[in-house]
Amino acid sequence: KDEVNIISGALELRRKLVTEVMTKIEDVFMLDYDAILDFETITEIMRSGYSRIPVFDGNRQNIVTMLYIKDLAFVDPDDNTPLKTLCQFYQNPCNFVFEDVTLDVMFKIFKEGNKGHMAFVSRVNSDGEGDPFYETVGLITLEDVIEELIQAEIVDE
Ligand code: ADP
Repeated sequence: KDEVNIISGALELRRKLVTEVMTKIEDVFMLDYDAILDFETITEIMRSGYSRIPVFDGNRQNIVTMLYIKDLAFVDPDDNTPLKTLCQFYQNPCNFVFEDVTLDVMFKIFKEGNKGHMAFVSRVNSDGEGDPFYETVGLITLEDVIEELIQAEIVDE
């Protein structure tokens, strides 16, 4: 039965879009580029349980870099280090894909590995009067794609 699920899951990857399985932007745990890594903020990061945290500048649509939990290894909460300092030191890149990308293509990008296992989903917003602009609508990780492939939830550690 598992095999049947995986085969049908694999066929489905070609029909499903990243937007169908992503975590919506409003549900993403992020940090402000101007944040200070004090005890309170570090506690909040640890409580969130995520290993990668997007960092935004100005507004939540404007994701500029990522913080990996391992980047915090040498940070002392008593030093009140600005998040900016860490971001400038590590300069972890972000990977963006458009909302119309299908999961088989997303899987290939993740498999190549050179862009990490997380991507932000962007769309062109041409509603309204003004010029069209890019907005970030969500986040997708390799885990989200694999769950579709095996047609089951992966229970996190
Ligand atoms: P982690 O390594 O942090 O557990 P995973 O890649 O295993 O992250 O993803 C687990 C789930 O959590 C996925 O559904 C993914 O979209 C979501 N996710 C990952 N990072 C974040 C985050 N910073 N905020 C909200 N959801 C996230």
